[in-house]
Amino acid sequence: MILEKCIGAQRCRRIQRALRHGKVTILCLVLTVVVLRGTIGAGKFGTPEQDFIEIRDHFYSRKRAEPHRVLEEVQTTSSDDDPNNYNAFDINTILKDEGEEEKPDPSKPYTLGPKISNWDEQRRKWLKKNPNFPNFVGPNKPRVLLVTGSSPKPCENPVGDHYLLKSIKNKIDYCRLHGIEVFYNMALLDAEMAGFWAKLPLIRKLLLSHPEVEFLWWMDSDAMFTDMAFELPWERYKDSNFVMHGWNEMVYDDKNWIGLNTGSFLLRNCQWSLDMLDAWAPMGPKGKVRDEAGKILTSALKNRPVFEADDQSAMVYILATQREKWGDKVYLENAYYLHGYWGILVDRYEEMIENYHPGLGDHRWPLVTHFVGCKPCGKFGDYPVERCLKQMDRAFNFGDNQVLQIYGFTHKSLASRRVKRVRNETSKPLKVKDELGLLHPAFKAVKVSSS
Ligand code: UDP
Ligand code: MN
Repeated sequence: MILEKCIGAQRCRRIQRALRHGKVTILCLVLTVVVLRGTIGAGKFGTPEQDFIEIRDHFYSRKRAEPHRVLEEVQTTSSDDDPNNYNAFDINTILKDEGEEEKPDPSKPYTLGPKISNWDEQRRKWLKKNPNFPNFVGPNKPRVLLVTGSSPKPCENPVGDHYLLKSIKNKIDYCRLHGIEVFYNMALLDAEMAGFWAKLPLIRKLLLSHPEVEFLWWMDSDAMFTDMAFELPWERYKDSNFVMHGWNEMVYDDKNWIGLNTGSFLLRNCQWSLDMLDAWAPMGPKGKVRDEAGKILTSALKNRPVFEADDQSAMVYILATQREKWGDKVYLENAYYLHGYWGILVDRYEEMIENYHPGLGDHRWPLVTHFVGCKPCGKFGDYPVERCLKQMDRAFNFGDNQVLQIYGFTHKSLASRRVKRVRNETSKPLKVKDELGLLHPAFKAVKVSSS
């Protein structure tokens, strides 16, 4: 009652102080009397038990509501120097990079770590000793670890972190449905390899630390699953160690820098992959090395703009110049979208919904939509922000619909955060089995193989 009348911020603060200084008892007493009076006045008294329940409910509902109101009042009138105001707080005063950055020895060439040359043997022994952690979880189903991540710092623009959250929620959903584990990295393990090169030291560390993992699946933070039902054709990769979306001719013949994409790829846990990482890393160290390597890549590769060396161009370069060494274990996949460039997909989602169904993974229902060049966590991207964010929301909702439908909901439209019911609630929820054909066989396949 007293709190209800709290209209000015000054008064609110006074009341807050009063609460803090032990006047709670008096306040409670007053409140109880007032509540009791109201209840008696309304002539609602029944049995003592009923009375107690009524009084309790009444009291609790008020008690819960009041502090909220006080907070709202405080918030609307607070100033920038109010220590309770999140908006006014500069996060950089507490997020610190303590300690010295490890400086590389300029006299030594960069390496990802100590040379390992018998990994296959080390891993085989480990797997034999640890039969509870098999590297295959089904006849044709390898144990997979999906790895993604983002910078240790908050995004350079306020909504960036929200899109990172949507993106990891999307990956968690796909992985849960397909029995895949997830690792999200936010630590810069090697200062030399900042930015798009950060994945290399991370991947090496994870391969060596998880001998039970057969395939590591790297996926960029700006890529989202848009087909929740598509299961990767694992059988097809039984003789391959490295699977990327791409085209042989574009890489090996044209040396085109977009002949493959390194935003979503599979790497087998084996010696070959460690060697590949060692061959991949030398153009990565930031500064002079990366800048000079960028020049080499631009002159060697088709259509590459002038900029520092990136991991994707470096991979095209390695494959195009050393095909004999690596080519036979690299699978450039284009039968479905292991990576799908957003520009050619996002405007067709409605058409896909109209004509097709999840589980196809290709142009009819793309497995992955990758927002190359949008840079939602940075200050500037290569495309208009409105188009990027709007389309990222559409891609998220497109994938999320397939998750929500399992629970009987769907987004009202691809542009909408709101959801609506697509199934009535039932008292026999376990009988509602795939009645709308929403659960594609892929879901069932996963259930069978993981049981
Ligand atoms: N990334 C990271 N740590 C960083 C910066 C980037 O783990 O400090 C990851 C992040 O997942 C990102 C990926 O590296 O999506 C590729 O980098 P970026 O987004 O800059 O390149 P793009 O995907 O636009 O080519
Ligand atoms: Mn990306």
